[in-house]
Amino acid sequence: MDNTWMLMRSVMESANAPKGLTKGTVRRVAKFARPHWRRLAVFLVLTVISAVLAVTTPLLAGRVVDAIVGGGSVSVVVGLAVLIAGLAIVDAGLGLVERWQSARIGEGLIYDLRRAVFEHVQRMPIAFFTRTRTGALVSRLNNDVIGAQRTFTATLSGLVTNVIQLVLSLAVMVTLSWQVTALALMLLPIFVLPARRMGRRMADLQRESAQLNAGMTTQMTERFSAPGATLVKLFGRPRAEAGEFGLRAGRVRDIGVRTAMLTRWFMTSLTLVSALAQALVYGLGGWLALRGDLAAGTVVALALLLTRLYTPLTALANVRVDVMTALVSFERVFEVLDLDPMITEKPDAKAVPAGGVSVEFSDVRFGYPAADRYSLASLEEVSTLDNRGGEEVLHGISFRAEPGQMIALVGSSGAGKSTIASLLPRLYDVDSGAIRLSDVDVRDLSFASLRETVGVVTQDGHLFHDTIRANLTYARPEATETEIWHALERARLGELIRGLPDGLDTVVGERGYRLSGGERQRLTIARLLLAQPRVIVLDEATAHLDSESEVAVGEALSHALTGRTALVIAHRLSTVRAADQILVVEAGEIVERGTHEELLAADGRYAELYHTQFAEEPAAA
Ligand code: ADP
Repeated sequence: MDNTWMLMRSVMESANAPKGLTKGTVRRVAKFARPHWRRLAVFLVLTVISAVLAVTTPLLAGRVVDAIVGGGSVSVVVGLAVLIAGLAIVDAGLGLVERWQSARIGEGLIYDLRRAVFEHVQRMPIAFFTRTRTGALVSRLNNDVIGAQRTFTATLSGLVTNVIQLVLSLAVMVTLSWQVTALALMLLPIFVLPARRMGRRMADLQRESAQLNAGMTTQMTERFSAPGATLVKLFGRPRAEAGEFGLRAGRVRDIGVRTAMLTRWFMTSLTLVSALAQALVYGLGGWLALRGDLAAGTVVALALLLTRLYTPLTALANVRVDVMTALVSFERVFEVLDLDPMITEKPDAKAVPAGGVSVEFSDVRFGYPAADRYSLASLEEVSTLDNRGGEEVLHGISFRAEPGQMIALVGSSGAGKSTIASLLPRLYDVDSGAIRLSDVDVRDLSFASLRETVGVVTQDGHLFHDTIRANLTYARPEATETEIWHALERARLGELIRGLPDGLDTVVGERGYRLSGGERQRLTIARLLLAQPRVIVLDEATAHLDSESEVAVGEALSHALTGRTALVIAHRLSTVRAADQILVVEAGEIVERGTHEELLAADGRYAELYHTQFAEEPAAA
C-alpha cells in the first residue's frame, strides 16, 4: 500500500515540472543531505533487503503449490509456510526500522533547512521586511521546506525501492517464463499513459488549491489582526470580506471533491489493469501449465510477482518529474537563503569603548537600495519588483554629538530625519561617508556591541503579543524584579501596572493593543530604561497623545535621556529647547544648526518651523 501512495504522490506532483533549474541546486541538496549520510546508507541497505524479500515470498508460494501438486511431503509444505511467515515478520521489522531511518532523515532535513532559513531571514535588512508579505515568507518556511523534505525522502526511497523491485521482479519473471512476462507487460501502456496525463491534471489542481489556501491565509492574517479587524468594521465590509473568503473556500471545496474522484479513478484503474494482467497470466500461464510447459507453482509465482511489477513501473514513469519537483522546492528555499543580507558583521568586529559615547556623522550620503537588491518578487506577491529607489536621499550630512549631548532633528515631513535616525543603529548602511560611535565606524562594530550601545524608541513602540514582563525583559533577559519595577516607576507606569489584575503578567495584545498610545510608548521607554543603552535614538510621538499622557511621556523621556547621548526627531517644544544642538533638515541636507535661541535669533527656516510646528504648544518647559 505504501508504494501505491508513493506512486499517487509522484503522479500528483508530476506536473510541477520546472523550467530550467540552476545547476548548483543538486550539489547544494547533497550538501544538506551530507550530515545524514550514515542514516541514508542504513536506509538504502534496508530498502534493498526488503525489496529482495518482496520477490522471495512469491517464489516460495510457487514452491508450496508445486509441492502440493507434485504430492510432496507435509513437512516440506509446512516448512515453506513457516519460512514465508518468518520472512513476513522480518519484513515487518525491517519496515519499522526503515521508516524510523527515513523519518529521522526527513525531519532532520526539515530542521536543518528551517533553522538555516530562519537565521538567514533574521539577518536580512529592515528594507526586506518592509517589502515582504509576512504570509509569503512564513509559507516559504513551512510549505516549501516541508515540500523539499517530503519529495527528497519520498523520491529517494521511491526511486531505490522501485528500481530494485522492478529489476528483481522482472528478472525473476523472465527466468520463470518469458512468454507470460511479455504478455503481462503488454497491458502496461494502457495504464501508464492516462496515468501520466491525469497526474498533470492533478498537479494543476493541487497547485491552484495551494494558491487559494495561501490567499485565505493572507486574508485571515491581515483581517484578523487588531488594526485590520478595526478597518473592516469601520468601513462596514464584513460581508464583502466573507464573500471573498467564501469564493476561495468554495473553490477549494470543489477542488477537494475533484481530487478525491480523480484519486479514486486512479486507484480503480490501477487495480483493474493489474487484475486484467493477472487474468492474462492465469490464462496463458494456465494454458502452458496444462500443456506441461510450466509448473503450476510457477504460474502462481508469476501472478504474485506481477503486482510487484506494475507499481514500480508506473512510479518510475514519473520519477524524472518527481526529482525535478523536489529540486524546485529546494530551489525556492535556496532562493531565500541566497538573498544578500547586505548589512554584515566584520570578522574582527570591535566593541564601543567604555564610558560616554560620542556620535558623529561625517559627510554621510545615502539612498534607499533598489528593491531587487534585497527582495524577491515571489515574497512580495508581485510579478516584478518595483525597481525604484537608489536615488540619493541624504546629501552629505555631518554633525557631532559629544558624550551626553542631545541633538534634535527638525524639518518638514520627508526631509530625511527618520532616514538619518535609522542609519545610526545600522538598519541601513551609508553609501559614502561614515557614522562613528566614540570615533569607531559603526560598520567596524560587533552587532552585540552596537545593539547594547544604541537604544531606539520608535513612534509606534511595537510590543510583542506577550506579557508586560516578557516585553520588558526582551531588552535584558537577566533583569531582576526590582530593576523592572524601577524602570516602570521612572517611565511613570508603576501605578498603572500595579493596578492591573495580573500585574507584570498581563498580556498586551498584538501591537500592545489593549494599552493606550501613551501607555504603550511609556512601556517602550521602560524597556529602554531597562536596557540602559549609552546612546538613544528617539522618534518623538506626534500629536496623538492627550496632554496628560504627553506630560507622563515627557517625564519618562527626560529620565531616559539624562546622561546619555541622544539623537531625537523632535516634535515637542520642550525637546528642542533642551537640545544642545538643533539640526534643521530639508531635502536631505542640514540647512541650519544651533541652539533654540541662536536659531530663533537667526530668523531663518527654524524660526518659520517654530512658528508653525511648535509655537501653539503650551510652553511645558
Ligand atoms: P522624515 O523622517 O524627515 O519625514 P524620511 O527620512 O522618512 O523623512 O524620508 C526621506 C526621504 O526618503 C523621502 O523622500 C522618502 O520618500 C524616502 N524614503 C523613506 N523611506 C524609504 C524607503 N523605505 N524606501 C525608499 N525611500 C524611502
